[in-house]
Formats: sequence, C-alpha cells, structure tokens
Amino acid sequence: MTATALPPDLYGLTPVELQERLRGWGLSPVHAARLWNYLYWELADDLGAMVELPMKVRRRLEAEMQLGVLPTALATDSSDGFTRKFLLTLPDARTIETVLMRFTGRVTACISTQAGCAMGCVFCATGQMGFTRHLTAGEIVAQVVHVARTLRRAGEPRLRNIVLMGMGEPLHNYDASLRAIGIVRDSAGLSLRADRITLSTVGVVPGIRRLAAENQPVSLAVSLHAATQEERAALVPAAKAWPLDELMDACAEYSRLTGRRIFYEWTLIAGRNDSPDHAHAVGRLLQRLPAQVNLIPLNPTRGYDGEPGRNEAAEAFQRVLGDVYGLPSTVRQRRGIDIAAGCGQLAAANRAGAAR
Ligand code: SAH
Ligand code: SF4
Repeated sequence: MTATALPPDLYGLTPVELQERLRGWGLSPVHAARLWNYLYWELADDLGAMVELPMKVRRRLEAEMQLGVLPTALATDSSDGFTRKFLLTLPDARTIETVLMRFTGRVTACISTQAGCAMGCVFCATGQMGFTRHLTAGEIVAQVVHVARTLRRAGEPRLRNIVLMGMGEPLHNYDASLRAIGIVRDSAGLSLRADRITLSTVGVVPGIRRLAAENQPVSLAVSLHAATQEERAALVPAAKAWPLDELMDACAEYSRLTGRRIFYEWTLIAGRNDSPDHAHAVGRLLQRLPAQVNLIPLNPTRGYDGEPGRNEAAEAFQRVLGDVYGLPSTVRQRRGIDIAAGCGQLAAANRAGAAR
C-alpha cells in the first residue's frame, strides 16, 4: 500500500483546512476546534479516544480520514540518558528516525523529512542509503507529536525546539516541510516558535532563495563542511549542482532579505577539514556575513572511512574563527554516540541487522 492510497491524514491539515472539511460535513467550527485540541493539546493517539466529539463525527472521521500516528518499531536510549532515538514505521512499512535530545538544558526533537536522501553526502548514513521517498506533511508533523507525547507521558517539560536534521533534505521536499512547520507553529496547537525551528539544508540554492523570498521565519542552517568548491564537491555531491559561489550568494541574499544570521554546519573529519588552514578558509568565506559556525565531530558510519576530528583540533579551529575573524562557533557534544546518534545511522544499522 502506498501513502497516497490512504485516506487523508489529519496531521497533514492546517486548522483552516480542517475547519473547511468539517464545514463541508455540516459541522460547526466548534467541532473543528475540539478536534484540533485533541490532536495537538491532548495529543490523542486514537480517534476512539475523542469522546467529546459526537459519535457521528467520529464515525465520519474513521471512514474518511486517518490519524497518522507512526508506530514505534524501535526505541533506544543513550547510556547517558540524554538521547532517545525512535525508529518509526510509515504506512508503507518503511522506517524513519526521530530523535529526542536533552542537550544543554533544553529538549529538542530531531525530525526526518524524507525516507533516505538523494544528496549522497559521503559521510552520512542516510546518504549512503539512497533516496526512497518524500515524507508527507502529516508524516513530518506526526514525528513532532510523537516526541511531544513521549515527553508528556514522562511528565517532562513541553517540547520547544525542533530541528529538521534527521533523515533527508528538507529543501528537496520543500512544500511538505514548510506545510508541516506551519501546522506545528499553530498557536492553538503545538505552538512552537518559528525561531526555535531550525531547518538544515545541504545547500539547495533554489530552496534557500525561496525561503528568503517567502520570508519564512524559521532558523536556517547550511551544511558547509568545506570552504572550496573542489573539497566540498568531494564530500557533498550536491555541490556539483549548486556550486559554492552560488550557495554563498544565496546565503548572503537570504541574510540581507530576512535580516537573520545563518548557522553553518561543519562536520569535523580528522585530517580532512579540521586544520587551522581550513578554519582560516571558512573564516574568510563567512567573515562578512551574519554567521555562526556549528562544528560537529564526525560520527563514524559503515560506508565512510573517516575519523572524527579530535577535541584539540576543534578547539584550535574555534580559536581561529573567533580570534581572527570574529565568528562565533559551537562544538556539538557527541552525546548518544553509543546509540548511533548520527543522521540515519539507526535506520542503517537496523537494515543491516535485518539483512544479516
Ligand atoms: N539534509 C540536511 C539535514 C539532515 S543532515 C543537511 O544535510 O543539512 C543534518 C546534519 O548532520 C548535516 O549538517 C549533516 O552534514 C550532518 N551529518 C550527517 N552525517 C553525519 C555524520 N556521520 N557525522 C556528523 N555529522 C553528520
Ligand atoms: Fe542528505 Fe543531509 Fe545526509 Fe547529505 S547530510 S545525505 S543532505 S541527509
């Protein structure tokens, strides 16, 4: 069965669309508001639990719509307890990763936008898998609800931050990703603040320009990893389609039009892109832009023979960025590495396990 053969997913509808659909059934906006409340306030995981909706409404929902809750195929906790990683099952039995992270005192959900990825970054477990399909907006929203519900059941604080940094390239699935962001931002629902939603892209230039033109109020992260076209194209094949100079022009335009800085991600690979010379190169590239650099030590994957940059290298890199170019930077903590916290790695490990 394909996702498109299923009835429409409630998680894929905006509040206005839900209201219109119910109005088409002769129901008042009060019913729509009550249903929205069940979806995003009560975080109900079953239409049958929505007992305040008249039976005739529930019957109609059951007959014509679906509540696209994604069953958990596997949940793993890191030994330090900071990270919980879920492998969630899509209606066509494919699996995607969603991660709940508790870093630096805040809770963040890391969400997937595609099953697999077409961009083929050499060090990335998802890239090594190849592309399977785009997720629907409902499947993206369902992951956010899953994490919110997990936190609620554990009596933990409400979810406030999400990053589109799981499997897939969100700007290759622009419409569904941005629709999902609109739904989770709704103030009568999950009410996530746009500036606490970070969309990470490998550098899909037309998508960056579209975000800027539409003035989408999310935070933007761009995965850079190298400061010359040649070095970048060797790590990120998508750089052949969208070369570094075009990418930097699009980033400059984005910051000029939106007034927002961009987070530039740099996966530190020992001996490959973690030297002071590399830090100078990225410093020169970004010094006139509103920028922050996020350094991510490589998570080793089966398909790539590289080692994470050492802590001392990361510190020296940061010193060059800060002292010479005035660029702020952070080093992402390597928490949860014991549960394969890198993008796509749990799904890859699970597939490999199934294949054995
Ligand atoms: N496709 C988007 C978002 C998902 S990847 C993008 O590429 O930006 C999220 C981040 O994880 C990217 O910066 C990516 O380069 C990084 N990443 C992927 N695999 C990694 C690995 N094995 N180790 C460290 N970082 C990795
Ligand atoms: Fe795709 Fe991002 Fe992985 Fe590259 S790093 S293959 S763009 S998910």
